[in-house]
Amino acid sequence: MIAPIVVRVGAATDTGLKRAHNEDAHLAQAPLFLVADGMGGHQAGDRASATVIREFQALQGRTALTIDDIGFALAHARAAVEAIAEDGARAGTTLSGAAIAEVDGAGYWLTMNIGDSRTYRYAHGVLEQISVDHSVVQELIDAGELTAGDAQRDRRRNIITRAIGAGSTGEADFWMIPAATGDRILICSDGLSSEVDDRELSEVLAVFEDPQVAADRLVARALEHGGRDNVTAVVVDAIHVSARAGGGAAAGFDDIDSDTRPRAEAMGGMQ
Ligand code: MG
Repeated sequence: MIAPIVVRVGAATDTGLKRAHNEDAHLAQAPLFLVADGMGGHQAGDRASATVIREFQALQGRTALTIDDIGFALAHARAAVEAIAEDGARAGTTLSGAAIAEVDGAGYWLTMNIGDSRTYRYAHGVLEQISVDHSVVQELIDAGELTAGDAQRDRRRNIITRAIGAGSTGEADFWMIPAATGDRILICSDGLSSEVDDRELSEVLAVFEDPQVAADRLVARALEHGGRDNVTAVVVDAIHVSARAGGGAAAGFDDIDSDTRPRAEAMGGMQ
């Protein structure tokens, strides 16, 4: 059975120039592309991010995933990370990324986020951030008390409001995005997005066609800008996307689990 989205993938990670350990972890194999940024001191942080990725590895080998598959893996991941916390360290991790999904035969990106790692889509020369950070500065931006530019320099920019573990019970957000051939999905830890601005991310994604080269170049740019944190980039290119069988009536979001929360932009992209 052909996957609803056929992909080419690249991934790169680096400890950076200031940290002693790399607490980021990632998964970059269809049908699941994830970045987890661990926290709680290197032992706990390493274990938290690696544990979450390991729980999701159980979903490898499928052609497509559902929101229930993701919810199930998330519940297991949360329990496993809380078990680390019982060792005395306060372990936690972010998680952001996308899974290959299918609605009425059409390929979709099932995008998820908890914390401040990010998932973007680059298409037709435009970079769009799909995930919304769960962070103090994002809340201040939403309240109109801070501009996006000021947020980059705000001393509170490392404080996240949801995590897996670390005492958080906050839920993940989900977005179902219709996929198109040529889509390029970028998933990264804040070690990339806090060092490299959107303009420069777009430039690298535009220039380097091979997703592995693009991921390597993105990580290299973060290091050139100071590499103050662990940095991870996963780049996923849609090289073939299945269309809706018969190309008939559009599928409404009623067809999708009610937990799915599309952004206005995703609705605009519906066929
Ligand atoms: Mg980080």
